[in-house]
Amino acid sequence: MSETADYALFLDFDGTLVEIAPRPDAVQVDPSLVPALERLRERLGGALAIVTGRPVAVIDDFLNPARFDVAGLHGVERRVDGTLSGGRPEDHPDLRAGVERLHAETARYESVLIEDKGASVAVHWRLAAPGDAQAAEEIVKAVAADLGSAYRLQLGKAVGEIVPAAATKGHAIRAFLEAAPYTGRRAIFLGDDRTDEIAFASVNEDGGISVRIGDGETVASRRLADPAVVRALIAAWAEGAPIDPDALPAA
Ligand SMILES: [Mg+2]
Repeated sequence: MSETADYALFLDFDGTLVEIAPRPDAVQVDPSLVPALERLRERLGGALAIVTGRPVAVIDDFLNPARFDVAGLHGVERRVDGTLSGGRPEDHPDLRAGVERLHAETARYESVLIEDKGASVAVHWRLAAPGDAQAAEEIVKAVAADLGSAYRLQLGKAVGEIVPAAATKGHAIRAFLEAAPYTGRRAIFLGDDRTDEIAFASVNEDGGISVRIGDGETVASRRLADPAVVRALIAAWAEGAPIDPDALPAA
């Protein structure tokens, strides 16, 4: 088995492949990123996927015209080799009611954004004043609590997201590893956020390599400084540099 047949690469998007933007729709994709990802995917025999809180369709827009395997909405929806499963809004009537309530209760706060993703909903308060941000966080916590055990709250950087309880990036990575071309490979997962820590733990448990991007407490075994360093690593691997994730800096 060649070295490149040994690994499956799983990549978070925001804060990992691209710098975090003030608004979720304002991220800038480095023009060299998509061609490098495509070359690296080929080198890995197709075993490369984006694992994100965003919908698959939004990742397609950002990485157009390429179409990668994607676990979207923290694994609520997953596309492998062009086939999409999960994530229809009509499957989530209770969440629909929760979205209405979020709109109603946050309307009086300045610069609080509701991002309705169909099967999940994110409340963003990055641009809000501290008092309004705190109010938004309290509201999303209350709505999540009232939705009960079928949903859970994920708190990230100035964002609170209500997602189906069974959806995590850890579950999504394990689901990819159950089928070709991922089966039998060692997972490498790169992520930057609190929400990625669950997946770091499950990747570690399965003998894979977890890589935290940026500062912060982590259970990941490796660390890289920022998305620019990640893009340089992807470019180097795409061009044929040895893929040796165990040699990355310790976290
Ligand atoms: Mg991220």
